[in-house]
Amino acid sequence: MIGGGSGGLAGAFRAAEHGARVALLEPSALGGTCVNAGCVPKKAMWLAAEAGRRLGMAEALGFPMPARPLDWPAFITHRERYIHNIHQSYRRRLDAAGIVHVVSRGRLVARDASGRSVVECDDGLRMQAPRLLIATGGHALRPDIPGSGLGSVSDDFFQWRAAPERVAIVGGGYIGVELAGVLQQLGSHVDMLVRGERLLRGFDGVVTDQLADDYRLSGVRLHFGREAVEVAKAEGGLRVRDGNGDWHGPYDKVLFATGRAPNTAGLGLETAGLATDAGGHIKVDAGHATNVPGIYAVGDVTSGLALTPVAIAAARRLMSHLFGGAPDPTLDQTDVPTVVFSHPPLATVGLTEAQARERHGDDVHVYTAAFRPMLEALVDGSQRSLFKLVCVGDERRVIGLHLLGDSADEILQGFAVALKKGVTLQDLQDTVAIHPTSAEEVVLMR
Ligand code: FAD
Ligand code: NDP
Repeated sequence: MIGGGSGGLAGAFRAAEHGARVALLEPSALGGTCVNAGCVPKKAMWLAAEAGRRLGMAEALGFPMPARPLDWPAFITHRERYIHNIHQSYRRRLDAAGIVHVVSRGRLVARDASGRSVVECDDGLRMQAPRLLIATGGHALRPDIPGSGLGSVSDDFFQWRAAPERVAIVGGGYIGVELAGVLQQLGSHVDMLVRGERLLRGFDGVVTDQLADDYRLSGVRLHFGREAVEVAKAEGGLRVRDGNGDWHGPYDKVLFATGRAPNTAGLGLETAGLATDAGGHIKVDAGHATNVPGIYAVGDVTSGLALTPVAIAAARRLMSHLFGGAPDPTLDQTDVPTVVFSHPPLATVGLTEAQARERHGDDVHVYTAAFRPMLEALVDGSQRSLFKLVCVGDERRVIGLHLLGDSADEILQGFAVALKKGVTLQDLQDTVAIHPTSAEEVVLMR
């Protein structure tokens, strides 16, 4: 396994379970992006931000609360201790499974005489294997504009020890939206510069418009149709110029959340003859096989969905196929549920209304529920929830579910199972609601 992140570790454990002899090359912290600079520390920050929001609500309910900002260094101690425990758990599991962890980068060199792949470590050590999985993940991209080096990316965010007073976030995708929400809740003044006209292109527009409203009400300043073209140091901080020639700022930090690129530099792809696509991702077929026999790739280094559970599921299926006799290594990447940890969270599975109409025309039927969750109403808060069902055909089969609102992150998983199994609007309506909850709105839509 080259790479000890979500995909590489999952592949290593599954292959070892099936009796394979496994070596895993990982030069950095075990767990890769997700554990060290992605899902886990991000969710920790999100939980801290949500806790802060709830303290405000508690005060509105009558609990006297001293207004104190988050003690970042203290919180980061908790966050890092949690991550340290994950590292230790991985180490124990690797030892127990007899997996050799080689603390080194791996580079592909020419195959040996018996056709096995050969991987070279930093110290020149070479290893051969008939099967090789590449799971080297990706890294944050900065736009190629003057002064972009003055800005930060998500990896830097996790090194911050305090909320910057004024921050500009460039990009309106997953990371931009998530970090904007966290920082605003933790006391920063946040500007978002988004080159498109909406947050989260590709998500359902009605729902992301509601999220934009929720963000505005929480104080985030959204600038749509503004592509950052320059960052410059000025008196009082950093300024950002947009494509219209307007300057924004000054800011204490500018954070680029403008997408990620695969980690393939120095991997020896050319030597091994591995094909890549226009974005530099390693090309794989549905069974995760590259164009070179015996070499496979999963996760962010490929062009599939860049989500941890996808990398894990792909690696496990592949290893069960290669070493455990499972007939089919393919992973169905349709209807994969996903959550953007915004405030409130946005959970989505299946087709947006626009995608559904493109595919099914007038046969699409949409149901929505807009409401204020009970706690929000009790404190006379501003945050609104919006749930949306996208159905097709006379039987109203559910092909899309988009939930924006408190607890949406926890509500979606079960409904995603139902959607994959072909649930219809009638099935939902035949299910008695749980009252009073936000989740009940899903079965009450008509
Ligand atoms: P990674 O986990 O990145 O692991 C790759 C590993 O390969 C790294 O440890 C790296 O050191 C190692 N490596 C690189 N080159 C070499 C080499 N030559 N030799 C040996 N090792 C090498 N996904 C979710 O599902 N939910 C979330 O909430 C979520 N939040 C995110 C938040 C942020 C800020 C970011 C950046 C990402 C987030 N993601 C989230 C995406 C998720 O982290 C990735 O999809 C996932 O980590 C991909 O797993 P991977 O195994 O492909 O790569
Ligand atoms: P995304 O692709 O989600 O978003 C990138 C954003 O940056 C888009 O708004 C894009 O605009 C914009 N952009 C791209 N290039 C430029 C540029 N040159 N100038 C200005 N804006 C630009 O990438 P992220 O970095 O946010 O996240 C990477 C991936 O990691 C996600 O796609 C997701 O798969 C994963 N992730 C998952 C999370 C989760 O599951 N909760 C959380 C965080 C990350 P446009 O839309 O116009 O292209």
